[in-house]
Amino acid sequence: MIPFLQSFLNRYGRPAHTVVADSGYGSEENYRFMEENSTEAYVKYSRFHMEQRPRFNPDPFKAENFHCNEEHDFCICPMGQKMRRTGTKRVKTASGYVSENARYRAVRCEGCPLRCRCLKAKGNRMIELNHRLRRYRQKAKGLLCSGEGLKHRGQRCIEPEAVFGQMKNNMNYKRFRHFGKDKVFMDFSFFAIAFNIKKMCAKMEKECIGRLTELLYGLAAAIFRCWGHINQRKPQNIAAYST
Ligand code: SF4
Repeated sequence: MIPFLQSFLNRYGRPAHTVVADSGYGSEENYRFMEENSTEAYVKYSRFHMEQRPRFNPDPFKAENFHCNEEHDFCICPMGQKMRRTGTKRVKTASGYVSENARYRAVRCEGCPLRCRCLKAKGNRMIELNHRLRRYRQKAKGLLCSGEGLKHRGQRCIEPEAVFGQMKNNMNYKRFRHFGKDKVFMDFSFFAIAFNIKKMCAKMEKECIGRLTELLYGLAAAIFRCWGHINQRKPQNIAAYST
């Protein structure tokens, strides 16, 4: 997501005002980038849908549901025991972003009546919490559940998902048939041009613009035929052709 938002910034000289995306993009790195650029992030996180279910009942033994006091840096476990901070774990993502997880440890779990539900390992319970990510998720949840958020969520599933459905199932476009960035770019560009013309024709047909629609349908069909022809060729022929 960040390279895409960065390219938007470079092209228009300003950051995107609003971003709507599904839970695959709800990472700390992405949320942070959007916050630093004052972008409104209507971006779901992994548990968002689960949390919205009417019968959702949070598991009190999961670390993220422990009561946490960030100001005084401690947590409270389900038994009411104070867990003290023992350190910080730093995790580096593939892109080089470093996130920090605070570690807390209970002082004495021995003899706790809830132990069988809370802990399987020996010793005292230890948890890791990413406070920054928790804050970002809280903020995203507030936005997603607002009136504007509901509108964006409603639109998002119609606009891109319907296109993916048509591409993958109706047109069986499930994988690229070429190797190399340039060839894949060419492959997908052809497809996108034809797809958009087809979409425009369908819209025009509804509005009864007859002759022009026929011409554009013809053009879209020609591009699809050309694209299909390119994709039928064997990779070795394509490689030979391109050299
Ligand atoms: S096992 Fe330890 S951390 Fe878990 S509820 Fe009991 S005292 Fe708290």
